[in-house]
Amino acid sequence: MKNLLGGKGANLAQMAKLGLPVPPGFTISTEICTYFYRHNQSYPPGFEKEIKKYLALVEKEKGQKFGDLKNPLLFSVRSGARVSMPGMMDTVLNLGLNDQITKTLAQKNPRFAWNCYWRFIFMFADVVMGAPKEELDEVLIALKKEKNLKQDIELSAADWQVVAERLKTKVRHLTGKEIPQNPWDQLWQAIGAVFKSWNTPRAITYRKLNKIPDDWGTAVNVQSMVFGNLNEKSASGVGFTRNPSTGKKELYGEFLPNAQGEDVVAGLRTPKPISELKKIFPSCYRELLKISKILEQYFKDMQDIEFTIENGKLWMLQTRTGKRTAQAAVKMALDMVKEGLISKKEALLRIDPKTIETFFKPSFEEKAKKEVLAKGLPASPGAAVGEVVFDPGEAEKLVDQGHQVILVRMETSPDDIHGMAAAEGILTARGGMTSHAALVSRAMGKPCVVGAESIYVDYQKQQMMVNEKIIKKGDFISLNGTAGEVYLGKLKTQPPQISKDLNQILKWADQKRKLKVLANADTPLQARQARDFGAQGIGLCRTEHMFFAEERLPIFQKMILAKDQKERALALKKILPLQKSDFIEIFKAMEGWPVIIRLLDPPLHEFLPKTEKEIKELSAKIKVPFLKLKTKVESLAELNPMLGHRGLRLAITFPEIYEMQTQAIIEAALDCKKRKIKVIPEIMIPLTLDVEEFKIVAQKVREKAEQILKNKKLKIDYKIGTMIELPRACLLADQIAREAEFFSFGTNDLTQTTLGISRDDAGRFLPQYLEKKIFKEDPFSSLDRSGVGELIEIGVKRGKKSRKDLEIGICGEHGGDPSSIDFCHRAGLDYVSCSPFRVPVARLSAAQANLTSPLRKN
Ligand code: ADP
Ligand code: MG
Ligand code: MG
Repeated sequence: MKNLLGGKGANLAQMAKLGLPVPPGFTISTEICTYFYRHNQSYPPGFEKEIKKYLALVEKEKGQKFGDLKNPLLFSVRSGARVSMPGMMDTVLNLGLNDQITKTLAQKNPRFAWNCYWRFIFMFADVVMGAPKEELDEVLIALKKEKNLKQDIELSAADWQVVAERLKTKVRHLTGKEIPQNPWDQLWQAIGAVFKSWNTPRAITYRKLNKIPDDWGTAVNVQSMVFGNLNEKSASGVGFTRNPSTGKKELYGEFLPNAQGEDVVAGLRTPKPISELKKIFPSCYRELLKISKILEQYFKDMQDIEFTIENGKLWMLQTRTGKRTAQAAVKMALDMVKEGLISKKEALLRIDPKTIETFFKPSFEEKAKKEVLAKGLPASPGAAVGEVVFDPGEAEKLVDQGHQVILVRMETSPDDIHGMAAAEGILTARGGMTSHAALVSRAMGKPCVVGAESIYVDYQKQQMMVNEKIIKKGDFISLNGTAGEVYLGKLKTQPPQISKDLNQILKWADQKRKLKVLANADTPLQARQARDFGAQGIGLCRTEHMFFAEERLPIFQKMILAKDQKERALALKKILPLQKSDFIEIFKAMEGWPVIIRLLDPPLHEFLPKTEKEIKELSAKIKVPFLKLKTKVESLAELNPMLGHRGLRLAITFPEIYEMQTQAIIEAALDCKKRKIKVIPEIMIPLTLDVEEFKIVAQKVREKAEQILKNKKLKIDYKIGTMIELPRACLLADQIAREAEFFSFGTNDLTQTTLGISRDDAGRFLPQYLEKKIFKEDPFSSLDRSGVGELIEIGVKRGKKSRKDLEIGICGEHGGDPSSIDFCHRAGLDYVSCSPFRVPVARLSAAQANLTSPLRKN
């Protein structure tokens, strides 16, 4: 019932149902939040009465009374949306205390009573009354200074009383209001504040980053308090039923003795590892192990738990499915299948394909020379190199300017999210494996080291001290989130490899998918990489990239500058053997898997220099007079190159280029055949808009191919097909398919031409389109289903009408995007083609698409 009760509320109820020790309480549903925002921040009739009814039930269960002097019931008022938004929304603890109740409580346990009252005033002032946190913090800091105390633990009962009373006065000065003394008023206002916290800027940012709809709303959990700060036999902790970083099956987490839960996550004191709980609270530790097992058996997944020990008794405060690194996700999924906890299908569905990309994050070279600057906890794996920055705003700014930065903070808070999102990696001086920095980095898949205690950040001077060393803003450091180490300077990284665990998951995925996964690869190196990652062929080999190599470009430029056909033919002749040898290498790398080669696509001016200076340099280099070169550059310039003289339009005017490319392809294939390497080249003509146009160009290509085969008296199979990149081509697909043997939707251009938006210029307005929700997602990274998608569906339908066995795929950015892959599966495509390192992502996505919507056998 997460939609209604929020994740926290639903799981608290579930834990209670499973017979686990949960402090009694009740949940106000998200419907009330929705009502609250639809009705000018007011509640439905009868709401107050209803709350009082449940409050009385809790009183009865606990044998305490809300607002009572002798035996007061205290509450925590906790927010909780459908999906967990760690640290994003607000909670008020110890609610129900006032001057009188605190004084009475203090007669028995003064330190505890005043400490709780201080906490209550602080949180209530912050969350409900909107007093600035830094100002509230000052009071405690000032007293510690006066008394020369370092840790909160060192404060006496009298100290806490002073701090609480001073804080109350300060709140009055800051807000002009009193902390309500009537517990009911406190509760009522706190409920309203939690609802309002749904719309704080940091909650809104988090939702945007995580694509959570704004209209879901939050539930409010009103729960009786248990006290981890009651005495030395009390503690608060957080944990995971398995290691969230590596996936290892072990109870993992940390706790603080004599503390309330907020102290653990705030990272102000570095907590103890949960293994020490075994020594200090052995029976609670055993119970926690038992509870972990019960929770995993019920939820069938790794749980992230919060608990409190009050005077030796264990209480469960929260459970939710835990966030984890991609590595851990894969290991856990595999282990859980082996344990019989979940099926293979569930294992495959459970791994977010997008996170697979983090497997392909580089690591530092083993043999690289490392100077360890500091050590901390390995909070999120991977290697990151960047300039040190201490301010999240500045991190964002520098990254916009093209820098790579590592954000270094004493600790992070939800206000730092934008800077963390921009940084390559995150380093904090304080905090444990479940601190804010650690949780958020793991969710973002960023390398992170926390609790590097030898570091002190001096925000004023914009530098950090590490033992004797001073590291200034802008200095380079390298961060190893896998080992928890920080190194001075820029370390070299090495390319990633597929782990054994991931390989196993991908093998299962291969058994479950219908879509083939090909790769976009232009070089033999990329082709080999693609094979290593499991590509079933090359879906797009862009031949123009072969011309950009340093020693080839001048020859190609000569071809462009040729004054007549004869000169052009001469230059092309020089390029031919180079192209041919490239193709041979690619065919060899692909070991018989299909290779789809796209003939030249970009406009010719892309190969020529632009500025006067560049033209001068080239003129000297290729010995063509400056003026001649300049005139040519000017004559080729286009106002709108995207819609200009490119694609097969080039072949309509200069057929020799495609003829040379065809010759290179066919001769390379023949060469391979001689060496017993099977090749079926597929020659792909870009940018078709009309069947007549395609016919003319395809005819020339076929004639060339046949002529070579005839001369050599040899035979090979080859295909000639086209890219579909224009709306017109989708609409006329039935005609085009009569001539073309295969289609490949070039969705980069198809998106540009359908939306009439240039991808290269979209940066100026696209962010606004996303912000104003005109687009839900960037149409250049996730396929625009309603526009481009429908055109693809039309293209598929009409294409297959005239050619039943028409092979259809998609290449372009979208081929590696999980949601676009899901679309391609449903649209009945044969394959997706994407960049090599996204091939594993696509293999898993294709399996997920088929598992969630198996295609009907016709
Ligand atoms: P978040 O969503 O930020 O995790 P929670 O509602 O879980 O917020 O509250 C934060 C912390 O407050 C918890 O980790 C827990 O330690 C403490 N807390 C919440 N409810 C109670 C309670 N009933 N008794 C004691 N501590 C509580
Ligand atoms: Mg919180
Ligand atoms: Mg919590």
